[in-house]
Amino acid sequence: MNQIQKNKKKLLDYVSVVRKDSIFPPVVSHSSEFPGMGGYMLEDFYHVSVYGGIPDSNFLKLGEINAVVENTYLPSFCNDIFSCWLYHMNQGRTTDFQNVLSYNFKKYYAEQLYWRCSSNFSRAIFLETLLYEQDQMVPIVNELSKSVKTRSYSELSVSIATSLISLHELAHLYLNSENKLWASLNQEYGQIIAPMYDDVKSNYGDAFATEIRCDMFAILMSVKLLERDWDMADILNIIIYHSNSFGLFYSLGRSAKVTYDQNRKNWESEKVDFTSIDPYDSNDVYSIVPDKTMVLRSQLMISFCERIAQKSKAKIYDQNPQLPLSKQLLIQYVGVVDRMMEPKNPMARNMALLCARAFHDHPKGMDYLLLRSKKFNRRN
Ligand SMILES: [Zn+2]
Repeated sequence: MNQIQKNKKKLLDYVSVVRKDSIFPPVVSHSSEFPGMGGYMLEDFYHVSVYGGIPDSNFLKLGEINAVVENTYLPSFCNDIFSCWLYHMNQGRTTDFQNVLSYNFKKYYAEQLYWRCSSNFSRAIFLETLLYEQDQMVPIVNELSKSVKTRSYSELSVSIATSLISLHELAHLYLNSENKLWASLNQEYGQIIAPMYDDVKSNYGDAFATEIRCDMFAILMSVKLLERDWDMADILNIIIYHSNSFGLFYSLGRSAKVTYDQNRKNWESEKVDFTSIDPYDSNDVYSIVPDKTMVLRSQLMISFCERIAQKSKAKIYDQNPQLPLSKQLLIQYVGVVDRMMEPKNPMARNMALLCARAFHDHPKGMDYLLLRSKKFNRRN
């Protein structure tokens, strides 16, 4: 076994213990396996991919081993809603768009809630989303795979969503070292980095400014890595789209936490009488609230993209004829999140609640459904 293989095993053993919430086994790769990243990355650099739970990613130092642990859970949801948008833009249909979008948001919220506590309510909201996946997401994924153009935009979207997150984590390391790459980015983009950084620092303090600096690094690195093969305006529009999504999904994660705190007492003592045919009452309440810090971060990321576009004269938003993105649409997403819990079909909510009760004390069954729901584009 060579040193890289030994380090991979060490990382895998470690991450398997600390990231038990990953519903897929962690996957470890080395920087030498990343094509096109040469010169940008640390020589001995590892990437660990996990999926699930609280959607945080982090930089890990294990002895001499440097690794980015990336939770691909959030990027995968970002890509799903990007696919919804791409599909409906190409089909010219807008009526079902809000519906399918709202189900994606609801699924994220339901999973975040379920991982905090398996209650009748969290299970029911999750179960409500299962049919829609088969009914609405499968055709979208299948349709997008048929055209070279939409397939390549989907690939670009995946690449951007994951690189924004892993490069942000890498930036934390680079910012603390005399890094040549950061110096060269500063030289080229210093005029737009410095004023924004100073402004954030004076308004929100050092710690938040560092996060924004790492976001700026992640955006610039993504642009640098992709601009050889892709149109700058397309890259920036997708970064803007995903930045907006990050704020929304983090808000859903926060909403799940607030909802859990509100119901904690009831849920932890929840019981189901499996012999009863009496009607049952539910005292569950839910909250949909913004994660103000992440929303601010996503707004600043978008503003930074606008400055890059201005500097490079790239035509972004709906000025980009290939991949037109309306600012108005992004604003509407907040409304979709706010309304996502309104039952589209009250009978479906009642049925989901009944099934959720049947899963009380059967965690393996629910975990199985959740696992299967991750493969909705394949045949069950
Ligand atoms: Zn950070």
